[in-house]
Amino acid sequence: MTETKKHRTEYCDAVVVGAGHAGCEAALACARLGLRTVLFTVSVDSIALMPCNPNIGGTSKGHLVCELDALGGEMGRNIDKTFLQSKMLNSSKGPAVWSLRAQADKQAYTREMRKTLENQENLLIRQAEAAELLAEAEDDGSGKTTRVIRGVRTTSGAEYLAPRVILCTGVYLNARCIYGEVEEFTGPNGLRAATHLTQSLVDLGIPVRRFKTGTPARVDKRSIDFSRLEPQPGDEILRPFSFSNEPEDIARQQELCWLTYTNEETHAVIRENIGRSPLFSGTIKGTGPRYCPSIEDKVMKFPDKDRHQIFIEPEGLYTNEMYLSGMSSSLPEDVQEAMIRTMKGFEHAHIVRNAYAIEYDCIDATVLRPTLEFMDIRGLYAAGQINGSSGYEEAAVQGLVAGINAALSFKGQEPLVIDRSEGYIGVLIDDLVTKESREPYRMMTSRAEYRLLLRQDNADLRLTEKGHRAGLVSDTDYEKFLRRKELLQAEILRCRNTYAGANERTNEFLKAHGSTPLPESRGQSLAELIKRPELSYEVLKELDPERPELPARVREEVNTELKYEGYIRRQKEQVERFKKLETRRIPEDVDYTSISGLRLEARQKLQSIRPENIGQAGRISGVSPADVSVLLIWLEQRKTT
Ligand SMILES: Cc1cc2nc3c(=O)[nH]c(=O)nc-3n(C[C@H](O)[C@H](O)[C@H](O)COP(=O)(O)OP(=O)(O)OC[C@H]3O[C@@H](n4cnc5c(N)ncnc54)[C@H](O)[C@@H]3O)c2cc1C
Repeated sequence: MTETKKHRTEYCDAVVVGAGHAGCEAALACARLGLRTVLFTVSVDSIALMPCNPNIGGTSKGHLVCELDALGGEMGRNIDKTFLQSKMLNSSKGPAVWSLRAQADKQAYTREMRKTLENQENLLIRQAEAAELLAEAEDDGSGKTTRVIRGVRTTSGAEYLAPRVILCTGVYLNARCIYGEVEEFTGPNGLRAATHLTQSLVDLGIPVRRFKTGTPARVDKRSIDFSRLEPQPGDEILRPFSFSNEPEDIARQQELCWLTYTNEETHAVIRENIGRSPLFSGTIKGTGPRYCPSIEDKVMKFPDKDRHQIFIEPEGLYTNEMYLSGMSSSLPEDVQEAMIRTMKGFEHAHIVRNAYAIEYDCIDATVLRPTLEFMDIRGLYAAGQINGSSGYEEAAVQGLVAGINAALSFKGQEPLVIDRSEGYIGVLIDDLVTKESREPYRMMTSRAEYRLLLRQDNADLRLTEKGHRAGLVSDTDYEKFLRRKELLQAEILRCRNTYAGANERTNEFLKAHGSTPLPESRGQSLAELIKRPELSYEVLKELDPERPELPARVREEVNTELKYEGYIRRQKEQVERFKKLETRRIPEDVDYTSISGLRLEARQKLQSIRPENIGQAGRISGVSPADVSVLLIWLEQRKTT
């Protein structure tokens, strides 16, 4: 009798657990860099799902998407294909904080990403729950043992053996959805939760925590009186997220969003029913994001505010569902309906989906290296919401970095690490792996020290070289980038060497633009004139008949680089100082408990976070400048002994 084999064993180079925004980028990066990759998801319907807001980008998140694109990621291209409305936020402020945001057609976004994954060479999608991580101890050759990942086991018992595993489990680990008295043990939109993997993480000694987030109700478009709302159109001039696209590639008819407000009546309904909110009754134990509070949180914490903005955004062209941005809640169903109906235009609103809060398990990311590999388990990586972050874009960039690094280490190549002076991605990852976060981490422009250098328009100048070196940016895109860079440099030089004469024509022009005329016989370069607040590269066109035809991106970049030249130079000097500390590497084997001058808290933090360099050590909360000095002296002494 032939014995039937109970469980299958499959071999591949990389396993990615989770097909959300982190998992899609991680899997594409691995596969595109040549690794035979299997992408697991508890449900194929959750591929690139947007369970909350129907948009990509926004303040600081737009920066992340442009950086991801410059490195060869997919999110920017995917939203360029599927957006319904596009807007540059903060355009009245300086270019450092301009942030592109696009409303997505959710279904189209998911469908297009799935198509990309399904057609990617080296990549297979598998609907199954990864239940257990397979890791074992290995002698590293020096007598010390290191734990190494071997693969995953699914709930059916099948084993997928791979030397690289990336965890991108998002909001699905032991997920619990709650509103009012109702609780359901599912992931978002009623999709299955993953209920086994947390135990495996705990068994491996990985610190697990519980966070929560929430989403607003969706309302049927036909039940809204739009004549009472303020329309919010998109920009007339469209800008793509992806550097591979030109504005004409993404031209389309845009959809409208709308604005309304809560009022005293809405707030009264919330206050009267606050005892029924699981957030306030103590049913929800997980920690929520401070910067994305629920409407009940806003009303209770800011009693003096008599109204809050609510943006009404379409979920897609395929549906009548409208998303009520700013109204996330976990109040009971009847209270949700009552509060929504108090708003102008919503008197007869019909709720399609209730608002709810979701709790899930995630890890303390300080156990990771800046490559997103676990310090204590070789070959195992984590990216996205599992690392305590919140947001599609935050997840996507981590997925990309983890995917690239898993592939580079598989091929024995140098890792890719982006530091805080090179990108918002660097700021995000450095914060996650260095500072113990007690609440879901959201990217914000204020978290970046070198904001003027980290603009979304120059993300390609900062990162495309790295993306190409890693192998993710194609030669065609790289050549396009080099051409753009060349045009930019040539035009900046031309503006420095092209002078407007101090003649009648120039001075008439300057007066017409509210600018001081030039003193007699002293011409000024275009580069100098651009610095005047009332002038710009575009405005100076009239004085500049020799100007070459340039793409819009290059024109904007020339303007910014010249206008803010002085500030940019100063920030570059700060970066020089920062780099000095970042390049002071700390050996991996330091025993901080034996360094006598360090305070106890600093010893404990340094021992557990194990910073890679002095700069990172100084950013750990609980490590003071005095501790850093002790560490520097200790490192010097160690060098000489
Ligand atoms: C209710 C709700 C409200 C939210 N509100 C906001 C908000 O206001 N602002 C904001 O920026 N973000 C919000 N988010 C968060 C946003 O959805 C996430 O940040 C983003 O989706 C995280 O991406 P991710 O790739 O890490 O994980 P997810 O998109 O959650 O994807 C996780 C993937 O992992 C898979 N998976 C998990 N465990 C396993 C396993 N063991 N085996 C196989 N597959 C597995 C799932 O099937 C899924 O494919 C909200 C999410 C929810 C659900």
